[in-house]
Amino acid sequence: MDYLKRTWADISLDNLNHNYQQLRAKIPSGCRLLGVVKADAYGHGAVPISRHLCELGAEFLAVSNLEEAMQLRRGGIRRPILILGYTPPAYARDLVAMGLRQEVHSLEYARALHEELKGSERRLKVHIKLDTGMSRLGFFAYDHPKTVEELKEVAQMPKLLIEGIFMHFPVADSIDGADANFTHTQFERFTQMLSALKGVGIEPEIRHCCNSGATILYPEYALDMVRPGIATYGVLPSEDLRGMIDLRPVMSLRSTIFQIRDFEPNITISYGRTYTTEDPARIAVVGIGYADGFPRSLSSNVSFLLHGRRVPQVGRICMDMCMVDITRVPEAKVGDVVTVFGEDGGDSIEVTSLANRLGTIPYELMCGINKRIPRIYLNGEDETEVLQYIV
Ligand SMILES: *Cc1c(COP(=O)(O)O)cnc(C)c1O
Repeated sequence: MDYLKRTWADISLDNLNHNYQQLRAKIPSGCRLLGVVKADAYGHGAVPISRHLCELGAEFLAVSNLEEAMQLRRGGIRRPILILGYTPPAYARDLVAMGLRQEVHSLEYARALHEELKGSERRLKVHIKLDTGMSRLGFFAYDHPKTVEELKEVAQMPKLLIEGIFMHFPVADSIDGADANFTHTQFERFTQMLSALKGVGIEPEIRHCCNSGATILYPEYALDMVRPGIATYGVLPSEDLRGMIDLRPVMSLRSTIFQIRDFEPNITISYGRTYTTEDPARIAVVGIGYADGFPRSLSSNVSFLLHGRRVPQVGRICMDMCMVDITRVPEAKVGDVVTVFGEDGGDSIEVTSLANRLGTIPYELMCGINKRIPRIYLNGEDETEVLQYIV
């Protein structure tokens, strides 16, 4: 299998499997697991990741939009797929034809979808989205009798079939007392709504609310299905959950050394001349830059792994390259592999530590890994597949 060994992302299927089993172990048997593969499976490659999650036993998948769902179908993924977001009603028939599940977050939207399906043979399966406190999409669901009335109307639409009902938590990954209370209140609002709906004969088959944080912290809220995203990829949704589950990073971002030179003290390195050598220094040029999704604002503030040792990145990160002080690794040579984050031998650099330095979350960094970086799927040491976006 061939790809340019400049910069690439190793995707460990062993670690994916490990994380999947860890999450499974949290939830009751019989509870479904939905793999969240939106945003190209958080940058890990939507089709290969979906295929492996399906092989592992994920009953459902979720994406952010119709195009992501179509990509999975074209890639041969046959499992039920839920679209977490708005699809223009004009595409209602495509949703049905591809066996997709659409989330429905308002009466107006349900009516519009239904209108488009008049005269169609088949029904569109929908999952009702309740807003219990996320205040994003959804029907109001804190003691809103109006919502029950609205859902009665949806339930009677002959071209829609309510297969599921769900909600989303904004702070389920936090152990702060107020946050825990809020999460608990949300779950109560959800269950109250479920019983009010049951009272009028609406009992969706699949009730779900747990993202990664809730699956780890509140597995008792699992209901009929959980929706972990980031934990599947081996990253904690927040530091509060450290020690509560054993996750392993699925992605390791690697690059290679282009050139090595020895510099005198007092030489400035890279654009802006922001870094000056103090002592004699051996500097390597590495083939990763901000065009790869390695943010320039990390300049001179991160280390890479090289031959199992940490080496500091120095000077401004350029578009396609950056410099690393490898004085401590005298045996390093051109072509050697450096690890930007992920596992290398016994050590690892967490994507979370980079995100913390950037004032962001690992989610943003992972989905920002550029599509010019091929994803290499590894089963043990074996490369089983290469995903190249630029062909
Ligand atoms: C993204 C998303 C998830 C997964 O969230 P993680 O924090 O990655 O586990 C679950 N549910 C919904 C509605 C989402 O949008």
